[in-house]
Amino acid sequence: MEVRIQRGSHEIGGTCIRISSGDTTILIDAGLPLSVDSAPLCPSDLVADAVVISHPHQDHCGLVETLPNNTPVYIGRVAKYLLEATRTFLRRPPLANEFRYITSWQPFSIGSITITPYLVDHSATDSYAFLIEADDKKLFYSGDFRGHGRKSALYDNIIKKPPVGIDAMLMEGTMLGRSNSAFPTERSVEKAIGTILAEQKNITFLISSSQNIDRIVSAYRACKRTGKILVIDIYTAWVLEQMKHVSNNVPNIDWKLVKVAFDPKRAATLRAPENRKMFGSFYDRANGNRVSGSELSTNPHLYLMLLKVPACLFMKRFANPDSPFTVIYSQWQGYLENSADKHSNNRAESFLRSIKDGKVAGAAFTYAHTSGHATLNDLKRFTFAINPKRLIPIHTEHAHQYSNHFKNVVELSDSESFLLDKE
Ligand SMILES: [Zn+2]
Repeated sequence: MEVRIQRGSHEIGGTCIRISSGDTTILIDAGLPLSVDSAPLCPSDLVADAVVISHPHQDHCGLVETLPNNTPVYIGRVAKYLLEATRTFLRRPPLANEFRYITSWQPFSIGSITITPYLVDHSATDSYAFLIEADDKKLFYSGDFRGHGRKSALYDNIIKKPPVGIDAMLMEGTMLGRSNSAFPTERSVEKAIGTILAEQKNITFLISSSQNIDRIVSAYRACKRTGKILVIDIYTAWVLEQMKHVSNNVPNIDWKLVKVAFDPKRAATLRAPENRKMFGSFYDRANGNRVSGSELSTNPHLYLMLLKVPACLFMKRFANPDSPFTVIYSQWQGYLENSADKHSNNRAESFLRSIKDGKVAGAAFTYAHTSGHATLNDLKRFTFAINPKRLIPIHTEHAHQYSNHFKNVVELSDSESFLLDKE
């Protein structure tokens, strides 16, 4: 079995791994880069018998639509729904790829390569690690994972019953060089949100990804505990609607403490004839559970509103020096600090930065976020349990640090070939 990290050996994102055995070649992940310095892939890099996607983050699956025609794409069913949800709201056509759905712990074969997905805990839902077997060799790819989210039992299970006889492991190392100590677990984020809600006299805004389902559950639970109502936008409502396929425990618009804020006049996507069948009763239910702008203004202290950065100017109407509203920034802080738009005239982002810097009267800023990625300590426990003969860094900016923490590290460069039968 030959392994080649086509991109992602020394960066976070842009992941694309080529695995070959005999006549079979597959790609694991086909991601868009997050860094502007990342080298582009050649079209020939995307030619393979099949592509297997670990999870629905753009840095792992963003190139799916550029794959050559007829390349089958293996992905989790909910992961695919979430990709389509985003496209629908961006008014992009559905993906034309041929999708085949994977199920955790059920092996499948592509030519001479057999793959077993392991469901993992990550900030994206429906995320997998993969055991990849061919030529009597075993490769384990961690995907993006962690041990401190709401599905930490999945991490514990792998530690307790690890795959055995692993010849090499590709393991992410996003957190090398980063700290997660302020909010070590998802529950600590939930607690922080609850503390703010319990004391609020004005509205609180939560800046978070709509697809970070763990975070939305945290927000909902904090609301429930403090008697507040969670307000989401129509896109988030549709994302949560997709989660009904796999769980009854994720909040959605049919729940009493969830309301939707949207302008019916601007909800054309939902009522477009080509989308009517897909949305079914969703539009009517969302409309029936809508919260108006005037209600939010009249009783702001009752609400926690999930908001995206581009919509931040909406906050202006709640500024009140006597009882400031609070913004909880609940995603990686680097997005705000390192944004390419830092000096641009993106008004929403500048406004948010002014709040952060304490320059907006009647607004307060706080931070509550836990990483989607394993801490160094959890990476160590993971590596110890799996005990691979070789450990290959991926999805990290600090590949050279692996050998300080782990045994048998093989640091590959992008495009460098590694043969598993080489001892
Ligand atoms: Zn990810």
